[in-house]
Amino acid sequence: MTPMSAYPPSHASTPLFPLFADLDGRAVLVVGGGKVARRKVEALLEAGAAVTIVAAALEPGLNQLALLGCIRQHRNAFDPAQLDGVWLVVAASDDRRLNREVADAAAARRIFANVVDDAELSSVHAPARVRRGHLQVAVSTRGAAPVLARRLRERLEAELDESLGALTALFAAQRARIGSRFPRPGQRRRFFERLLDGDLPRLLRAGEHDRAHAYFEAELAQDPPAATTGSVTLVGAGPGDPALLTLKALRALQTADVILHDRLVGPRVLDLARRDAELVNVGKRVGGDHRATQNRIHSLMLQHARAGRRVVRLQGGDPLVFGRGGEELDFLHAHGIPCEVIPGITAALGCAADAGIALTDRRHARGVTLLSGRDVATLDRAAVAAADRTLAIYMGAGELDAIARTLIAHGRAANAPCVVIENGTLPERRILTGTLAELPALARAHVVHAPALLIVGEVAAGARRATRAERCRNGAPTVACAA
Ligand code: SAH
Repeated sequence: MTPMSAYPPSHASTPLFPLFADLDGRAVLVVGGGKVARRKVEALLEAGAAVTIVAAALEPGLNQLALLGCIRQHRNAFDPAQLDGVWLVVAASDDRRLNREVADAAAARRIFANVVDDAELSSVHAPARVRRGHLQVAVSTRGAAPVLARRLRERLEAELDESLGALTALFAAQRARIGSRFPRPGQRRRFFERLLDGDLPRLLRAGEHDRAHAYFEAELAQDPPAATTGSVTLVGAGPGDPALLTLKALRALQTADVILHDRLVGPRVLDLARRDAELVNVGKRVGGDHRATQNRIHSLMLQHARAGRRVVRLQGGDPLVFGRGGEELDFLHAHGIPCEVIPGITAALGCAADAGIALTDRRHARGVTLLSGRDVATLDRAAVAAADRTLAIYMGAGELDAIARTLIAHGRAANAPCVVIENGTLPERRILTGTLAELPALARAHVVHAPALLIVGEVAAGARRATRAERCRNGAPTVACAA
């Protein structure tokens, strides 16, 4: 049996499980007596740990701590028996063999070991952290990039002001009173949110502690935030890239109880939702019964809102552009449910920007029309023929050649530039450029899948320029040109 066999297999790609350990009064063994050990010991003492150090000699700071009786010292060499009764061991010596021996002995006893600067030997990692009283933010890269973790910590240091410590301390001191005043978890959460959205953080930041306490007392004396009035917020998730969510959308996602989302909304956006939020995919399926799906969405919104929950109806792009957002709003109003709309970047705008297209570039276009692929056939000539009107056509991925033929039949020039943007703003984005006459062949050659947006008009030629440059830069096969 090799010494390594004591370890579970190391999966460098498996994420670590973050924990905050309560070491108050608990025995921790530190092996090593140099500067690195001292840093660890100081942090451990701060957490109340009962530290024993294994080292023949101690650097001056540690020596001082030993003299003051803050730590105990074993002068003899490391022996696995020293791990008896220990909750955690830190190997902080500069001898890798010794560190490995400590890690092996700890693993054999199922004791967590942190080996300083050795991710491979560590079964627990010490994160970079920012502390404001009880509030702690810990950053880990699984040992892959400590410098990056430190950079992030520096950013957080700047971002999280000192008053957060006072805020956390206030909540900690008042926890029992808050708990008895608002016994239901939902009420309690709403109370905290009301406080955080109100003046309390600002007063603490300004150092006005008396006023902050008075404010807190006044809020505590108020009626519990009504738990019976739920609400529905129609939220636009933008075209796909989570970074294109609005701040308001992000906030709605992080305070939602229930999220009813479309199929178009990707996992990276849903990852930003509150952990406890219930996620329901209410997406319409191609060939499915859309009326039944929409009725289900209406009844889910009603049911959850009436149960006092905060419902987010999350739709790709903007919730009121080519969705049933308008009908949903009417339905909610008719049923007296409080509702709000948070706009999102609609696909035409997101995809155009992504492809470097100015939809209303005054040199070529006097306006832009948003259309659905389904409606192209029923539009009159004037709506589509004018060369100075940009068309942004949604929901046309499956019928690009029919759309192209119809547009030409309606008088749009066969050589009008056009661009198809599939999965705009997402890493898997594809851009196809050509003319209207070339579109059917392009669509056949490249098998376009939804979601895809078609832009027709002189301004689409801009995509050719932008995307050609991009192709040269990346050599990526994401762009195809018919020309
Ligand atoms: N409310 C949405 C549109 C819903 S209709 C909005 O405002 O964007 C769905 C259509 O939107 C898709 O068929 C496609 O045409 C377009 N679409 C949405 N996201 C897209 C994306 N990332 N790339 C290309 N087209 C997209």
